[in-house]
Amino acid sequence: MSTEKKKIMPDIIRIKLNSKKIEREVVNSEHSLKFYAGRALSSKIIADEVPPLSDPLGPENKLIFACGFLSGTTAPNSGRISIGAKSPLTKGIKESNVGGRTPALLVRNNIRALVLEEQSPDWVIIKVSEGNVEILDGKKYTGLNNYELTKNILDEYGSRVGAFTIGTGGELQFANSSIASIDMEGFPSRHAGRGGLGSVMGSKKVKAIIVIPPSKSLMEYADQKGFKLVASPWFKDLNLENKETKHVFGTPGCLLGMNEMHGLPTQNYRRGQFKDADKIGGEAVHELILKNKGKYGLACSPSCAIQCSNMILDSEGNHITSSFEYETIGLLGSNLLISDLEKIAMMDKLCDDFGIDTIETGSALGVLMDAGKIEWGDADRCIELINGLKDKKPESMDLGLGVYELGMKIGHPRIPHVKHQAFPSYEPRSLKAPSITFITGPMGADHTAGDVSGENPNKSEGKVAISKEKQIHTMIVDSFGICYFVGANVENTAKMSKLVTARYGEIWEKDTDGWIDWAKKCILMERDFNVAAGLAATDTLPKFMLEEKLEEAPFRWDFDPEEISHYWDDFK
Ligand code: SF4
Repeated sequence: MSTEKKKIMPDIIRIKLNSKKIEREVVNSEHSLKFYAGRALSSKIIADEVPPLSDPLGPENKLIFACGFLSGTTAPNSGRISIGAKSPLTKGIKESNVGGRTPALLVRNNIRALVLEEQSPDWVIIKVSEGNVEILDGKKYTGLNNYELTKNILDEYGSRVGAFTIGTGGELQFANSSIASIDMEGFPSRHAGRGGLGSVMGSKKVKAIIVIPPSKSLMEYADQKGFKLVASPWFKDLNLENKETKHVFGTPGCLLGMNEMHGLPTQNYRRGQFKDADKIGGEAVHELILKNKGKYGLACSPSCAIQCSNMILDSEGNHITSSFEYETIGLLGSNLLISDLEKIAMMDKLCDDFGIDTIETGSALGVLMDAGKIEWGDADRCIELINGLKDKKPESMDLGLGVYELGMKIGHPRIPHVKHQAFPSYEPRSLKAPSITFITGPMGADHTAGDVSGENPNKSEGKVAISKEKQIHTMIVDSFGICYFVGANVENTAKMSKLVTARYGEIWEKDTDGWIDWAKKCILMERDFNVAAGLAATDTLPKFMLEEKLEEAPFRWDFDPEEISHYWDDFK
């Protein structure tokens, strides 16, 4: 397949893994997928082409790597991609968003989306180079975990290439397996972690997608000057706003605030506050970084104005992990009553290496502790169990089930999940706005479906409206390929709509209200797929959360079920 003449809207490439056919779809102003990119594109392909009741690990499922409208541009924080499929964890539609160096390289190769269809009989890798796509033998990479796999890829294809990879978690089709994207420093630390999408890649026998930087970028702008006029001041403002906060303390910087709001999962969601929170919060992470000469203020992907990522070293200067984030520290730390940051970082590294979601894994370990199978706070035992995945030790293998299946297997009544997916380190009885998003959002308990808080976070009044607004604008940032830390809100949707017009031309023009209406339709499309797949349109909290209040605070689930049952009415 040869590269066609440069076009402004990058192409969609369909890779048929059984028949080994590669088909290129050129997206022009008449194309039915013209107004779909990122999350909206992956969800549209799933909704239209994947039977809702099909086996997520069977040949009918499709795995879509969809860049957003603005991915790979000079817009701030635009190095993101949406990876989507029918989820083996929730059995519903799934999008998991990730950065790293790989998404922007796809756009520079003039590719908006790779759609993996069918299943390969043998292990393969996919190589993207100078805008062309090839399927190559991947047998030699099987059995490798992400760190060794990434090193081999960088040695073989060059230190600047990007790649999406799976570890043995994906090969073994673990329900909690992730897809890694190489970060800017060359580590496989950025993960599309939610929903078990690594297992869909494993079911298709694709071990890695390797993207080579083209000799000259194939990306064009309809109006580059106009684009710069909006993108540059936005970049500068974001950079300035976050200089003393996210840039320095990263996402762990919110941990003490969450603790204050009783929102930090502690002891398998018995409490929302951890007595040792100050040992694992943003300041503590920052001190550890300074002490061992690690790094903070790193960008996970090109064009990031905020740079919230980090690199954690041990006292001898050896790399422990990168992208050490709040959700990981909450689930593998306070949730397990563990306050040793270096040990939590080691667990993060092991999860990244095997390619399993730290949120699902931390929740599963929390359930094992709650059921008396591991002592509370026993970090060494947790490390031993996760590490046992390397040798496929029977006692470790249940960690690949995801929190819901593991909890059901051992008969434990306190399983923290919605749609069989673990809560992402935000206690739903105290943090009212995210709790509504977790039970209504098509993605299950997923913090990236709409961020949190608002004023009076512990009070339910007004939070349904906040949740709806956040879900709408998060659909927009996810579909535009922008990291949601820029703020998913109407002001930024207005800026992004101008940038889309400058990037693609007037035929792609919509005003802010037009994009908001479009986002509502996209969310309903996802919801309808879930309903057809047998999932409820709105869900509920697990029984123990409906019955118990937090031990240290009187917060309960107190929304009116009638109001929740009409959540979607004004989206139609
Ligand atoms: S703000 Fe953080 S997560 Fe978002 S693109 Fe930048 S480094 Fe990545």
